[in-house]
Amino acid sequence: MAEQKGKKVEDIKKEAEAKKCPVSKSLYYIEEFLAGPMCGKCFPCEMGVYEAKIRLKNLTEGRGSESDIFAIRRIASDMLESSRCKRGKDTATFILEWMGTDVFKEHVEGRCPDRECISLIEYRIIPEKCIICGDCHDACKDDAITGEKKKGYKSGYLPFEIRQKRCTKCGECIKVCPTNAIVIVDVKAKEPVGV
Ligand code: SF4
Ligand code: SF4
Ligand code: SF4
Repeated sequence: MAEQKGKKVEDIKKEAEAKKCPVSKSLYYIEEFLAGPMCGKCFPCEMGVYEAKIRLKNLTEGRGSESDIFAIRRIASDMLESSRCKRGKDTATFILEWMGTDVFKEHVEGRCPDRECISLIEYRIIPEKCIICGDCHDACKDDAITGEKKKGYKSGYLPFEIRQKRCTKCGECIKVCPTNAIVIVDVKAKEPVGV
């Protein structure tokens, strides 16, 4: 039997399960499997997981297509059938299990329903709910929020807005907003939900 390196596949699976999105779970698992237990002694597993990592990254980063899903399923099926050890077969079983929903397809359409794949989401401020307190601005360490706090003697304020290019999707602003005026939406959404 091939030698085991690093973490056990069961432990990597448990860590991956802490994520909500099945595509993120699969990518996390594959990256950790490559960094540890994958020994490279048989072809379907060695080549398969490298390709699966690229295909999964395409999906989490908004470049995914149906052919990525098709390829990941093919790789997992080949690994299940032809991997030389249990680690490769278990890996294939986990990936096929995570693929058992429509979530992979939704990523091809540009949506992460669990709002975990940061390339597919944006944080936005709903102007109607914003009381111009500036708490989000103070909480943002990346200087991604522009706007002016309300001042009694001024009538016109610069509304608070999130500069998407600077936003790292850390989520700190949502935690401090007193009126739930900040929402997470699909990048492709024209308007924030809940307006
Ligand atoms: S299936 Fe097992 S033996 Fe083959 S490369 Fe993967 S970990 Fe190594
Ligand atoms: S998610 Fe983080 S980086 Fe983006 S605006 Fe909010 S606090 Fe700033
Ligand atoms: S914390 Fe909320 S209410 Fe206050 S400025 Fe930011 S978005 Fe508006």
